[in-house]
Amino acid sequence: MAHYPTSDGRAAWRASVLTLFPEMFPGPLGVSLVGQALQAGVWSLTPHQIRDFGLGRHWQVDDTPAGGGAGMVLRADVLGAALDAAGAQNPDSPLIYLSPRGQPFDQTMAKELAAGPGVILLAGRFEGIDERVIAGRGLREVSIGDYVLSGGELAAMVLIDACVRLLPGVLGAAESLAHESFEGGLLEYPQYTRPREWEGRSIPDVLLSGDHQAIAAWRKAEAQRITAERRPDLVAKPDRD
Ligand code: SAM
Repeated sequence: MAHYPTSDGRAAWRASVLTLFPEMFPGPLGVSLVGQALQAGVWSLTPHQIRDFGLGRHWQVDDTPAGGGAGMVLRADVLGAALDAAGAQNPDSPLIYLSPRGQPFDQTMAKELAAGPGVILLAGRFEGIDERVIAGRGLREVSIGDYVLSGGELAAMVLIDACVRLLPGVLGAAESLAHESFEGGLLEYPQYTRPREWEGRSIPDVLLSGDHQAIAAWRKAEAQRITAERRPDLVAKPDRD
């Protein structure tokens, strides 16, 4: 497997995605800064077609649920083979099943995954996957929120995007991570730009004062106010300035 070293010699962060719809990739991951980083080899993306591991003349990947019920379930034997093939190409990366039952994805998990060699993501479809493959391959279940998507592909894209923008060199200095939401456990303060007046609404005077200390204090106070109003659960966490 090609290693795609970056210009500074670092190995590329590798995203492998097991899916029935590889044509969905790179999709939104191919544009803007994340797409440029893909082009530059900062990260690599390998979609794996699950159907390539399907059974019989029709490359069957799913079957009816044991015990009855609606819909279809992706087979453990098919997924096991697909995961093994992806793992051989992307060793050392964690195996993740995108699932509404999973651990909630957040910025802390994005940082943890971005610091590793990459990820192997299994995007489910239909009613989901045979439970046995989760234990059999040690899959970590990760959810992107408390709602049900039609498939895991959009969830995989969300996870990849959040990780890739944390990789060294992906964001320019202008898009610094330092003051973003969740840094220091707070949501971001309000942002403004020209014009100074818009439909009777002004930019707060302090931001035009040139007083950097006063601006920093105002931003911190606003970040604290917004976080307390909208996400008191974050305020309760210990990890803040
Ligand atoms: N029957 C499943 C349930 O009730 O939990 C839902 C299956 S859903 C229609 C099909 C696939 O979409 C899942 O296997 C999973 O890969 C993906 N998916 C749906 N919602 C998700 C979420 N909130 N986070 C991550 N993946 C999700």
